[in-house]
Amino acid sequence: MISVIPTRVDLPRPIAPLTYLAPDGLARGVRVVVKVRGGKTWGAVLGPDESPPSVKLRPIEAVIDPFPLLPPNLLTLLDFASSYYGCGLAHITALCIPQAVQVDWGLLLPDGRRLSELRDSGDWRALNEIGMAWHRGEIDLPTLLHRRNLKGAGLTEVRLTGAPHPRRVTQTQARVIECLEAADGVKLESEILWETAVSASVLAGLERHGLIERTKRLDLLSQKREDLLHRTVTLNEEQRHAVSGVELGRFAPYLLYGVTGSGKTEVFLELAECVVHNGKRVLWLVPEIGLTPRLLARLETRFPGSLAVGHAGLNATEKQADVVRLLMNDARLFVGVRNAVLAPLRNIGLIIVDEEQESSYKSEEHPRINARDLAIKRAQLEDCPVVLGSATPSLESWHAAQTNRYKLLRLTQRPLGANLPTVQVVDLRECYRSERKKVIFSPMLLKAMNDVLERGEQSMLLLNRRGFENFWICMACGKTLDCPNCDLSLTYHKGAWRLRCHLCGHENVPPEVCPHCGAEHLRGVGEGTERVEDSLQTRFPAARILRLDRDTTSRRGALEAGLLAAEHGEVDILVGTQMLAKGHTFPKLTLVGILNADLGLRAPDFRSAERTFHLLTQVSGRAGRVEKPGRVILQTYSPDHPAIIHAVAQNFEGFADSELPYRQALGYPPYTAMALFRSEGDDPATARKPLDELRLRFMACHGLKILGPLDAPIPRVKSRYWQQLILKSQNRADLSRALQAVPIDRAGTVYMDRDPVNFGV
Ligand code: ADP
Ligand code: ZN
Repeated sequence: MISVIPTRVDLPRPIAPLTYLAPDGLARGVRVVVKVRGGKTWGAVLGPDESPPSVKLRPIEAVIDPFPLLPPNLLTLLDFASSYYGCGLAHITALCIPQAVQVDWGLLLPDGRRLSELRDSGDWRALNEIGMAWHRGEIDLPTLLHRRNLKGAGLTEVRLTGAPHPRRVTQTQARVIECLEAADGVKLESEILWETAVSASVLAGLERHGLIERTKRLDLLSQKREDLLHRTVTLNEEQRHAVSGVELGRFAPYLLYGVTGSGKTEVFLELAECVVHNGKRVLWLVPEIGLTPRLLARLETRFPGSLAVGHAGLNATEKQADVVRLLMNDARLFVGVRNAVLAPLRNIGLIIVDEEQESSYKSEEHPRINARDLAIKRAQLEDCPVVLGSATPSLESWHAAQTNRYKLLRLTQRPLGANLPTVQVVDLRECYRSERKKVIFSPMLLKAMNDVLERGEQSMLLLNRRGFENFWICMACGKTLDCPNCDLSLTYHKGAWRLRCHLCGHENVPPEVCPHCGAEHLRGVGEGTERVEDSLQTRFPAARILRLDRDTTSRRGALEAGLLAAEHGEVDILVGTQMLAKGHTFPKLTLVGILNADLGLRAPDFRSAERTFHLLTQVSGRAGRVEKPGRVILQTYSPDHPAIIHAVAQNFEGFADSELPYRQALGYPPYTAMALFRSEGDDPATARKPLDELRLRFMACHGLKILGPLDAPIPRVKSRYWQQLILKSQNRADLSRALQAVPIDRAGTVYMDRDPVNFGV
C-alpha cells in the first residue's frame, strides 16, 4: 500500500495552488496530472501541505516525472523568479520545459530495475536520488527522455561523404551528386529536392550507400554568409584587457561597454571559447534571433556542432528537441531570446547578455520576468561571471557600473576603423516658419536623398508611426475620430482604406461626414510610414522603395526577406519604424533620415528620453558602417532636448550624466525600486476598488511611497476600464517584504508588474 499525503500542487492557471493526495516523497518541481473543474491539467508539486483544508481531498491522476527534470540550480532560480515576479511555479516552469517533454518509464536503470518498478512500489525517494545523481553527472540515463518524433526538428543539411562511388549510380542519384558537387559538397535537403526534382527516397538510397550523410541543423538563418566563415581575428590590446578582466570560475557581474563595431562580440567569443575549453557551458542571450544571423554564423564557425538556439520562431517539436538536447548535455552553447535565461543548461561557466538595454528582455505578459535581471541571479546561483554588453547601456546597468556593483570593461576603438557618421540636425520649427506649413522632408534631407540616389547608394528613413495619417479631426467641431472601445484615436490606413485602432484592432470605413456634428470637414493630421512611402513614390518615381513596419511584415519571414533584399542592395530607399534600427548591416547605406525624432519623447513614461536616445544612436549607427562615410539627418521640433543633443553627438556618457540626476531628483529607477499594479473592470470604480484595498494594506508597510490608484495612461482598452497603483521604494528589500506581506489574489482582476518597463498601455 503506497502512502499518500496532502500535497500542494501549483497549476498553470490564474488560481492559487490546490491540495491533492499524492504519493509521499514527491520532490518539489515534479510534474503531475490533476483534475480541476472537470478537466485535466498538469501541475508542479510544491510540497506536502502541513495544514490541509478539511474537505475531502482528491487524489492526483498521475505523476509525469520520476524526479525534477530541471537541474537543481534552475529550480532554485524558478523559485526565486516566482516569488519575485509574483507568479506560480507552474507558470514559470512552463517557460522552460514544454509539456511534450516526457520520460520513458520503461528505462532500465544501471542496477537492472525499471523506473516504473520504483514508481509502482512508491519509492519516490529512491527515484529522487537517481535524479540528483543524474543531474550531478554521476550516472548516465541516455534514453530517459522520449525522442520519438524528434527527428523532424530543424532543417536537414546534406553532405557528400567523399566515399568512393559504387560502380553504378542511377540517373537520379547522379543528379543529386552533381547538385552537391556544384555546391562544394553541402546543401540543404529542401534545396536539393527542389533543384533536382528527385524524391526523398533517392537521398535515402544514397545515404544507405554511404555516399551522403544527412544532419539536422537547428537554425539556418546563418546560411550563405561565406564572408564571415573561417576568419579569425587577433584581439587588440583593449579587447585582451577586457577578456582578462573577466575572472572565470566565480560569480561577478560585468558591463562591457563599447560603441557598435568596437569588437564586443569578439570578446564574448573569446571568453566563450575559454569556458567551453574548460568543459563548461555558455548561455548567450540576445534580444532578437531574427536579427542576428551574423552572430549565429560566427558562433557556428567557432563551435561547430555544439550550438543550440532557442527563439519564438521554433515550432513545438523543435522546442522540445532543444530542451531534450540541453538536458542530455548535447550542447555547449545555448543562444536564445528572453526565456532562454531559464534554459535547462547545466554546468554554466559564463552568461552573456548582448544588447542588455533592449526592452525585449522584459516580458510584457504574465509572468513578467526580466531576463537581464534573472541572468544576474542565475550567474550567482551557478557561481559564474555574467557579462552584459552594450553600446548604450541601460541607465540601471550604467549606474551599477558607476557605483562598482558591476565591473566596467570598456572598448573605445573600432578595429576595422569604420567611420562614425556625421549627424546633422534640422530644426523643424524653422522649416515650418519658412515653408508656412508642416513638412515631412526638409530641403536638406531631400537634397541629400537626391545625391545618394544619383551615386547609386541607399538611404533609410525612419518614422516611429505606422499608418497613413495619425488621426482624423473634424475642423468644424474639433472632435477626433476615436475607437469606440478604447480611449485612443483611430489611425488612417490608406491602402486598406480603413480607420484602425492600434490597440484593439477595431476598424471601420472612413466616414464622409463627422459622426459628431455631421459637417464635411474631416481632415487627417500627422503622418505615418504609409504616407511617407506614398510621397516618396511621387518625389522619386524611379527609386526602388521598400516599407518595413508592422503592417508590411505581418507575414512570417517578410521582415527577414525585406532586410536581406536591402542588404543585397536591391532597395534604394528603405522606410520604416524602429524595426529597421537593429541588427543588419547594409553595405550600401550611406544616409539615414530620422523624420521626427521627438515622437517617442512625449510618451507618458520616465524612460521616454532614454528610449529616444537609444533609438537615435542605434539608427545613426546604421549609416556608413563599412567603407563609405555615412551621414545622418535628424529632424526635430526640440533640438535642445538632452536626448537629442547627446544622440547627435553620439555621446552616451553625456546623456547618462544629464539624465541620472533627473531620475534621482524625481525618485525613479535606478534610484528606486518600483512595482506597478493594474486592475480592470466594467467601469472605473470597479477597476479601482481592489487597488484601494491594496493601498490600505500597503500603507501599513515600511518604506513605501504609494501613488494612486489613478487612471492607467490609456484608461479604456477594448471596452474595459483600467486603473493603476504604483509602489516605489528606496530599498529593494523593503519593497520585496511588502509584496510578500500583501500577496495579490491570483484569481482577481489585479496584476502586478515588478520593475515595470512599459508604462504606456
Ligand atoms: P560589436 O559587437 O562591438 O559591434 P564586433 O565584435 O562585431 O563588434 O566587431 C565589429 C567588426 O570588427 C567585426 O567584423 C569583427 O570581426 C571585427 N573585429 C573585431 N575585433 C577585431 C580585431 N581585433 N581585429 C580585426 N577585426 C576585428
Ligand atoms: Zn480600440
